[in-house]
Amino acid sequence: MTIHQANHSHDLTALTGWFSHDLLIGGKNRPASNGERFDVINPATGQSFASVASASEDDAIDAVQTAELALRGWSAFAPRARAEILRHAFDIMTSRADELARLIVIENGKSLADARGEIAYAAEFFRWYSEEAVRLLGSVQTSPNGQNRILVTHQPIGVSLLITPWNFPAAMAARKIAPALAAGCSVILKPASDTPLTALAIGAILTEAGVPSGVVNVIPSRRSGAIVPAMLDHPAVRKLSFTGSTEVGRTLLAEAARTVVNCSMELGGNAPFLVFDDADLDAAIDGAMIAKMRNGGEACTAANRFYVHTSVAVEFSRRLTVRMSGLRMGSGLDEAVELGPLINQDARSKVAGLVDQAVDAGATVLTGGVTEPGPGYFYPPTVLFGVDSTSPILREEIFGPIAPLVTFETDEDAVRLANNTEFGLVAYVYTADLSRGLAISERLETGMVGLNRGLVSDPAAPFGGFKQSGLGREGGHEGILEYTEAQYIAVSW
Ligand code: NAP
Repeated sequence: MTIHQANHSHDLTALTGWFSHDLLIGGKNRPASNGERFDVINPATGQSFASVASASEDDAIDAVQTAELALRGWSAFAPRARAEILRHAFDIMTSRADELARLIVIENGKSLADARGEIAYAAEFFRWYSEEAVRLLGSVQTSPNGQNRILVTHQPIGVSLLITPWNFPAAMAARKIAPALAAGCSVILKPASDTPLTALAIGAILTEAGVPSGVVNVIPSRRSGAIVPAMLDHPAVRKLSFTGSTEVGRTLLAEAARTVVNCSMELGGNAPFLVFDDADLDAAIDGAMIAKMRNGGEACTAANRFYVHTSVAVEFSRRLTVRMSGLRMGSGLDEAVELGPLINQDARSKVAGLVDQAVDAGATVLTGGVTEPGPGYFYPPTVLFGVDSTSPILREEIFGPIAPLVTFETDEDAVRLANNTEFGLVAYVYTADLSRGLAISERLETGMVGLNRGLVSDPAAPFGGFKQSGLGREGGHEGILEYTEAQYIAVSW
């Protein structure tokens, strides 16, 4: 398969030069206290193109103390004033959408179309929570014995530690910062080491939008395993909102338990994509391409297992193979490219290993299946048919452009196969019969279902998982409540 490389080196200074690459603490940028930095790699070339400051434990504690100092003032801001700042952040992000998208492409590798979609999605969180900031309703009720009133308000939970992954470097940060700020919390954002620049750019945008000093602190670090527990042990930190793998999520839950820090966890997925015998195959293929290939398959919501009714399996796999093999792969900076590289060499080796194991166990490769030679961490769109039910590719998160297909006979089988996983983030269901689709959706153990839709993400909807895919919800009205504590006052009226 041809890899299309772009030569845009002259754009780099413009893309990365308008914001600081140092830590953002207390409204000022500064290097790490120990002087450490780390390189940022372009996955399309494997080459370093920038370096950022790497926060030490001292820097992390400094960020917590700064956020603690800023908390009282920010939580006392009128909700409307907080809303105006969030709305301004939406406007700035939207006006700079193209340069932000290109920044994401060079540090993450995704296609420009995906990056533009991410920036629009990320900016929407600032707009949505600018609207939610002024609608944080409490409640009043009479106690059943009639003797007092039960007055409930939602108070800002306090200093919030936000940890984000590399796959949506803007959207995952915005999905946490916007509701936290709307609720009146101050935050420390620790972005993934593969994609620190987008986070620093968002920090600069929020400063420009009028967020007071110390309310948003951004601390990239190569030492997550040391600085995060140190921050969690600080008594000022009352909230941990983490998006990342289930494995790291389990570690952080244990660390947060020491000081009983409130946790929201957006963890891994293993989404089933169910195609029933009556499905509109055109719609199912369009949906499959979105559910599988958005972000090059590097999405927690990515369709990980395709279960297709035996009566339509051959036709579905034929059409999916045509669409997948027609994708143009290369550097995301090339406007025509639809599939970029994977994030790094480890990710590519993992994907290749899962494919090889499935093939060894009897799967047929309909397209792809062979690692592309360098430079860059490319892996081609791949369709596997007849995947053995014990193959690891059906149990683990693939996080790459691979579609493994398995057939089923009955609705009962489809539901059982779909639920046969420790994960429970999202499932996709394609059927022409809406009542059948709703009945099946209700039996799926997932926080979200795409019913005749390949995309569920929406800032207005509660995003999150059942089982080991997480705790809590981001987005929607639910998202702001994650950054609040309910306080009940018993009132003698
Ligand atoms: P990851 O390895 O779990 O890392 C996520 C974040 O945690 C990064 O900032 C990482 O920093 C940090 N981290 C890693 N080890 C840590 C430790 N011991 N202590 C404290 N922090 C630590 O996940 P990823 O590879 O970046 O992202 C992919 C995963 O995210 C997938 O499993 C995907 O499903 C999940 N995800 C879930 C959602 C959702 O909404 N449910 C959305 C997007 C992604 P470093 O980069 O410095 O290691």
